[in-house]
This record gives sequence, structure tokens and C-alpha cells, in this order.
Amino acid sequence: MGVQTWKSRRNLPFAHQIERACIPETKMLEESVDDWVLLQEQVSQCTACELHQTRSNTIFGTGNLYADWMIVGDAPNEEEELAGEPFVGASGHMLNQMLLAIGVTREQVFIVNVLKCRPPNDRDPKREEVASCEIFLLQQINKVKPKVILAVGRIAAQNLLGTKETIGHLREIEHQFEKANLPLVATFHPAYLLKSPLGKSKVWADLVRAKKIIDKQS
Ligand code: URA
Repeated sequence: MGVQTWKSRRNLPFAHQIERACIPETKMLEESVDDWVLLQEQVSQCTACELHQTRSNTIFGTGNLYADWMIVGDAPNEEEELAGEPFVGASGHMLNQMLLAIGVTREQVFIVNVLKCRPPNDRDPKREEVASCEIFLLQQINKVKPKVILAVGRIAAQNLLGTKETIGHLREIEHQFEKANLPLVATFHPAYLLKSPLGKSKVWADLVRAKKIIDKQS
């Protein structure tokens, strides 16, 4: 690995996250790091949908590259766009609390969004934007190889499952995310819990279900 390459990697936000990620005893293979850095570069240069015209940053995702949990939200908002990291605002704090409630830390999971760019005025993602961005999400899932996907919120769940069913209904069913052949649990978005704390017991039940799916595979 040449010095030039190393220098350019250090300038990529995700390269920094790779250094921070919880890497097991065996060191990550260098080509695997290269894959991630390349994917992040592709995301940062993507012009596949109109969102590239209004974004100030792309939000690739963050977390443990060996995570059992892949948390999928909808799209970054202003705080995430500024920070370059998903779920850093009030929703992010609530998400961390949700995970901690079942003994999982933010550092143990991998967190992404269906969209890597912020929609203007934080409007809902358009179907064509989700379709353009899907290739990145699928590659991330394929690299992390989680044991379960936790879709947080209606938009993530509906888009991943290709349905218009309500999140109230979707969270009651065990799903398979066919495109990656992985179990998927849907739950309420942390932003919903900020407004409706009574929903916490339902989210708790969903997380317990997701944890059981993981434990069954261990
Ligand atoms: N909501 C999301 O779905 N994702 C974020 O990154 C922030 C808020």
C-alpha cells in the first residue's frame, strides 16, 4: 500500500470509521478495506438521482463492519447531513437508547439509510430515488452480512419490503428481505417514539424478536 493511497484514505470519513470500528482479533484484510473505501467513493460521487443537486454531503453509514444487526432508516436530515453520519440528532439518541435497552450498543451495529442523500426540506424519499440508491444499500448488506435487518419506520420498511402496508401491520409479521435473503424485523421510527413514548413497549417487543432471530443463528 503506497503512502499516497493511505493519505487519500485518511481523508475519507468512512476510512476513519473503519479505524474506529470494532474489528475482531484477526485484522481486516486490506482488500476488504479497499472495497469499502471504493464503495464510499462511489456513493460520494453518485449523480444517479436529482438529490445530488441539493445535497451538501453524502451519508454513507456507520458502525461495526461485522455487525449482527443492520439498522436501516429512511434518509438523512439536516443534522445527519452536517455530521456525515446517520442518526446523530434526537432520533439518533433515541435509537441508541432503544438498542441499549436490549443490551446492544451503537458501536455493535451497522446503521444506514435507504437514501444516502438528504431530500430537500426533509420530504419523503421518492420511489425513483430509493431505486437508484438501492445498489449501495445491497452492497453494504452484502459486505456486513448481518443476521437481521431492523427496518426503522414506515418508509424504510415499506421500501425494503415493496409494500404500502402500515408500519403498525408490518411490525407484527416476520419478514424475509428477499434481495439479500435475510430476516427482516420492522419497527417504529425513533422519531415516532419521541412524540409517542407509549410506543416504546412495542419497539421493545420488536427488538426482542430481532434478538431471538440473531440468537437462533449463533
Ligand atoms: N431519520 C432517519 O431515518 N435516518 C437518519 O439518519 C436520521 C433520521
